Amino acid sequence: MKNKLEDLALLGGSPAFQEKLHVGYPNIGDRSYLMERMNDILDKNWLSNNGPYVQELERKIAALVGVKHCITMCNGTVALEIAIRAAELTGEVIVPSMTFIATAHALQWQEITPIFCDIDPKTHNIKPEKVEELITPRTTGIIGVHLWGRPCDVEGLSEISRRHNLKLIFDAAHAFHCTYNGRMVGSFGSAEVFSFHATKFFNTFEGGAVVTNDDDLASRVRLMKNFGFSGYDNVIYIGTNGKMNEVSAAMGLTSLESMEKFVDRNLQNYRDYQRGFSDIPGIYLLSYNEQEKCNYQYIVLEVDEEVTHINRDDLVKVLIKENIMARRYFYPGCHRMEPYRSYFPNAGLLLPETEKLVGRVLCLPTGNAVGSDAVREICQVIRLVVVNARRVREELKRYKEKIN
Ligand SMILES: *Cc1c(COP(=O)(O)O)cnc(C)c1O
Repeated sequence: MKNKLEDLALLGGSPAFQEKLHVGYPNIGDRSYLMERMNDILDKNWLSNNGPYVQELERKIAALVGVKHCITMCNGTVALEIAIRAAELTGEVIVPSMTFIATAHALQWQEITPIFCDIDPKTHNIKPEKVEELITPRTTGIIGVHLWGRPCDVEGLSEISRRHNLKLIFDAAHAFHCTYNGRMVGSFGSAEVFSFHATKFFNTFEGGAVVTNDDDLASRVRLMKNFGFSGYDNVIYIGTNGKMNEVSAAMGLTSLESMEKFVDRNLQNYRDYQRGFSDIPGIYLLSYNEQEKCNYQYIVLEVDEEVTHINRDDLVKVLIKENIMARRYFYPGCHRMEPYRSYFPNAGLLLPETEKLVGRVLCLPTGNAVGSDAVREICQVIRLVVVNARRVREELKRYKEKIN
């Protein structure tokens, strides 16, 4: 009977949506401005290597975030790798397991061991008290992740890093244009790293940036992203190629011009989802603090199976049948993926909240491609599923009681 739960949307033969609705569908700004810039790039014949659009984007992001330095990159992962290297992290670094795998890989790629830390189940963010328990003589730093764009406990982590003389970096891939206590994310710790990947609410096709107020760190990051070149024919450092190209920067400038519109759409969708889910028992929508600036780019649900009588995985299956391409997020947790699963087979014992959460969470579509009508319909589908799942389970229970 349980296997039949995915047939329970009961909306007839055709799915609720004709076209698939995706999580992380790209937000695209004004096409004509983008095309103007593309033409200009071709006219100038300057395609990469710190071109005028990259410089303009770096100036504008630094001003927006309120930091001295913005160094753009080809993607967020390379930006993380370079920030980690420039901050001179070695040995062990404490990170949450509840994050995208790139946070851990950026360390392991350079043979630094990620030590996975548990989260606060209310915020889904790394828990400072748990960080402290994981510090060893080999620990050199902490990477906080602002999951879903909700800043992690910056004060708590800063205090621990000061007390133990550890470097503190933030993976701010989700938190571009968000604030913590009214101050823009990007200015905390030694450095913060953004991702401008196509699936993020603000994109440059592929891209990312390191932002910092530390002059020395910034100059190391700049050298490292350009092979260590300090001038023509003069290499003074080991480096890689982390450069953003001009087309990506042109997309970034175009995205910047539409960013407030993207946020407004996301906020509207978030409020519509809030209304839609307010009366569905067992389905909890993660809330954002509307006193802070936020990009509202993730619609995050927690499913309490005890109440809904349908678990998260079955619910996702039903939604996908209806062309609502809901996704489990960061399932099954970094610590359960390779190579970490083999390195630390028992890591889960220290991560009870993470293990619980990765079984409950899913993300729903939002962004520019999703309007109020679609949100209402998605909520309606989920309401139907939950109502029916309950009925079927109750009938099943009665049936079992009868035959006993
Ligand atoms: C997207 C993301 C990254 C990686 O960024 P890319 O630009 O895709 O390389 C890193 N960390 C987190 C938390 C992310 O969501």
